Amino acid sequence: MNKRTVKDLDVKGKKVLVRVDFNVPLSKTEKGVISDDSRIKAALPTIDYLLENGAKVILISHLGRPKGEANPEFSLSPVAKRLEEIYGDNFHFFDEDEVVNDKVKEEVNALKEGEIALLQNTRYDKQETKNGEEFAAKLASLADLYVNDAFGTSHRAHASNVGVASKLPSAVGFLIQKEIETMGKALEDPERPFVAILGGAKVSDKIGVIENLITKVDSILIGGGMAYTFLKAQGKEIGKSLLEEDKMEMSLKLLEKAKENNVKIYLPKDVVIADKIESGVDTQIVDIDNIPTDKEALDIGPKTAKEYAEVVKNAKTVVWNGPMGVFEIDEFANGTNEVAKALADSDAITIVGGGDSALAIEKAGLKDKITHVSTGGGASLEFLEGKVLPGIDSIDDKEE
Ligand code: ADP
Ligand code: MG
Repeated sequence: MNKRTVKDLDVKGKKVLVRVDFNVPLSKTEKGVISDDSRIKAALPTIDYLLENGAKVILISHLGRPKGEANPEFSLSPVAKRLEEIYGDNFHFFDEDEVVNDKVKEEVNALKEGEIALLQNTRYDKQETKNGEEFAAKLASLADLYVNDAFGTSHRAHASNVGVASKLPSAVGFLIQKEIETMGKALEDPERPFVAILGGAKVSDKIGVIENLITKVDSILIGGGMAYTFLKAQGKEIGKSLLEEDKMEMSLKLLEKAKENNVKIYLPKDVVIADKIESGVDTQIVDIDNIPTDKEALDIGPKTAKEYAEVVKNAKTVVWNGPMGVFEIDEFANGTNEVAKALADSDAITIVGGGDSALAIEKAGLKDKITHVSTGGGASLEFLEGKVLPGIDSIDDKEE
């Protein structure tokens, strides 16, 4: 990686503006309660490093979509509460609807070494998502240095990442460093066999990933809703399963391209079918040639899961994006869970990208057994597509 990291910065006594991803899920029943604080935890190594090295830390983040105006529903105060539990009196919440104003500037200037502050939701300002010059300048005016550690928004060019980075000496934090080093190594210089497991709902969401991986991997295991467009394109009856008719031709092209690249593609050999996507419905396991016209395939079957697990067992690098079935419902979660277990049991470098896939791993309690579970849904997808992420691209390169 050629980007400067926090360790390349001299932070002692400096005001360091840190873009973190505190876009945490909030409880639907209890107001102002965080239901999962893993995004906060993921940012702590960078924050702690800065504090231990005598920086004055100013944290910025978005939360949800307040659409460019102050809205208590999207206040970062639940996050502030959590940070106060962690950092006690060293922590301050500069809770201003304007995010940055004269009061905030004064308070920032009064920060001492080893102290830490959080500003209000950056998306309270309508310029944030448009990478507005004025808002970026206001944010930059608070600090001497800028660190981006928000991997989850790095595929977007916003004022709080790309805008600020153009105005201050910059570096990436440890979280982004880990994300791009692990995923970057897998894509550029993988230990082989290199296996990709791709699932999720739609082929259209994953075409970019397949196209990029098809020149890099040794095999691709396909599951999830997108498998049925491939199967239908090959002339199979798929009943009422998810189909993107306008992507059938594309699917055939991808299969062709795989052949040209000597990539082995696996498609489901058996599936779990039902009348509808509902918890408690009757399910049946059928071979892929026996899907009735009035049923929907909602998970890969046990034979397929076993075969996929076997391929994973022999791999040295595994990248997984997209659940194998409707894992949110127990009746259709088995395929996803079996693949998750296979990854957990493997000695290979295992990487999981994508919001729902990460959730499935977490739900299965296997997160600790995976080499790297990406913290960015859309960002990890774009990274796997081989795209340049503007939030990372905008960071200063390491000096020679
Ligand atoms: P990720 O967030 O990991 O990239 P996606 O968002 O692409 O994954 O896909 C996840 C969704 O795909 C889940 O909500 C899941 O219910 C759905 N899905 C998986 N298999 C099927 C299927 N056979 N039919 C319909 N939906 C499916
Ligand atoms: Mg998703």
